[in-house]
Amino acid sequence: MTTAPFETSAPKQEVRGARTTTMIPCVEPATRRSLGEVPACSPDEVRDRVARARKAQLEWRKTSFDERRAFLKSILDHVLEHADELVETIVRDSGKTRENAMLGEVWTVAEKIRHTCAHAEQHLRPEVMPSGIFMHKRAEVHYHPLGVIGIIAPWNYPMQNILGPTIPALFAGNAVVVKPSEHVAWSSARFQRIFDEAFDKAGLPRDIVQIINGYADTGAALIGAADKIVFTGSMPNGKKIVAESAKTLTPVILELGGKDPFIVCDDADLEQAVHAAMAGVFIAAGQNCLAAERFIVQDGIYDAFVGRVVELVRALRQGPPLGPERVDVGAMATPMQLEIVERLVDDAVKRGAKALVGGKRALTDVGEYFAPTVLVDVPADAAILHEETFGPVMVILRARNDEHALEIANSTEFGLSSTVMTKSQERARWFAERIVAGATSVNDFGLTYMNMDLPFGGVRGSGYGRLNGREGLRACCNAKAILLDRLPVGAPAKLYPIGTFDYDFARETIRSLYGKGVSKTPQAISRLAKTAWSAVRARN
Ligand code: NAD
Repeated sequence: MTTAPFETSAPKQEVRGARTTTMIPCVEPATRRSLGEVPACSPDEVRDRVARARKAQLEWRKTSFDERRAFLKSILDHVLEHADELVETIVRDSGKTRENAMLGEVWTVAEKIRHTCAHAEQHLRPEVMPSGIFMHKRAEVHYHPLGVIGIIAPWNYPMQNILGPTIPALFAGNAVVVKPSEHVAWSSARFQRIFDEAFDKAGLPRDIVQIINGYADTGAALIGAADKIVFTGSMPNGKKIVAESAKTLTPVILELGGKDPFIVCDDADLEQAVHAAMAGVFIAAGQNCLAAERFIVQDGIYDAFVGRVVELVRALRQGPPLGPERVDVGAMATPMQLEIVERLVDDAVKRGAKALVGGKRALTDVGEYFAPTVLVDVPADAAILHEETFGPVMVILRARNDEHALEIANSTEFGLSSTVMTKSQERARWFAERIVAGATSVNDFGLTYMNMDLPFGGVRGSGYGRLNGREGLRACCNAKAILLDRLPVGAPAKLYPIGTFDYDFARETIRSLYGKGVSKTPQAISRLAKTAWSAVRARN
């Protein structure tokens, strides 16, 4: 369905402190209208910004958890108060629907802040650990901020990709410098304002969170200057990030792409499976890291599943999300992404796949659209079964039974998330134990991400390290080991100079501590006592 072009007037975004001559052209993908240009940060400017963030962090790290909670709550108030305006900004820059922006960005950020305020302190307080064999000592782990966390973000969630990783990094006491994708550079100044206003209100320096625009060279400079990098993006660029980070040994969290399996068992509730499938493919027109990219449907339910999704996909309305008509599916966020989707679908069809719905570009005179698509009979050698699609394409494969479904699920180099639809909890657990991925959701699509207690991240080609949950918070910290006195012994543990019987004493001590029951035998005790006595005498 085509919607008529409409008039828009995008507000001009002011960019703070930019002093470069390289400009980034910004375009609304849903209409191809220009949003103007924003300046890119040069590598020198990036280093300068990180130095300013480092200085500001010294003030931020002194704040209490209560003060950080109050700060995050003022961010939340801003987001809720300006939700409609923020949604419109996101939609202009990304081409997604308003509903997708409200749920996928505003709700996600709100829940992350709620969760962080409620639970983060318990994961960041110093912890007392067992002191093991050193009973006279008290062992503690302290979670110190790392300094400046650099966040390099993609274009698919313009606001959430910035605020999501910034919230835990800030709560842990770090300053943050974010480089969003050049494809959504226009909206970043609006998100900077959220932080600026909250810092002004708290009487804290704005430099604690800075959003800088730029291309790959801006990102590379951030890697060299920050204390840790959270990179979210494609696998090929993830490899470049790791190579760059090796130069300064900057630690990196990699949140990369996926080829997520969505298994529909023959006992699944058909309507539940079909509607979860629709969400899995068409949220943000499939430009969702957790998107369901391969539907593995068992023989017993295959025909019914395909028939019902075809019916629903045919009825989807597509067009500019800020136009006069309601739409279900928006645009691809970039012309490059549209080309990738087109190439993968064309390749599959050339090799024998059938497009039951869609299969090509749509609304070509309006913007960057790919028609909602259902592909079946996709041959094993089609690139679309192995490369990330990131588009509104439902690829449906047949499976004979659970083992076959699992084999297909684990057959790619990725491992981000996965979904299993079945009425049997036992069957669900069987799959959850065996699918190689960072997450498995049962009978719902993608809700593992919204449970902020759960770690989020991938394995294999989908990256490493975790956002969200205790793991995500602690990933922003130096987990520092501290050993204090429980009982002041007051005598030195003399190792030097090495004495004549020290070796024998060490051996007998180790034997009695770790040997099979030897410490209980009178011979072992007497041997240990003798060597200890000899060692002490030799030293005195
Ligand atoms: P991308 O890899 O092209 O770019 C991501 C960011 O990295 C951008 O800001 C870009 O400017 C920057 N960048 C690119 N090359 C760089 C370099 N050599 N040095 C430093 N910075 C560099 O990704 P994209 O196309 O913007 O986003 C889509 C990808 O992101 C998809 O693969 C998707 O799966 C992935 N993604 C993953 C998650 C997740 O949480 N796992 C979430 C969202 C998106």
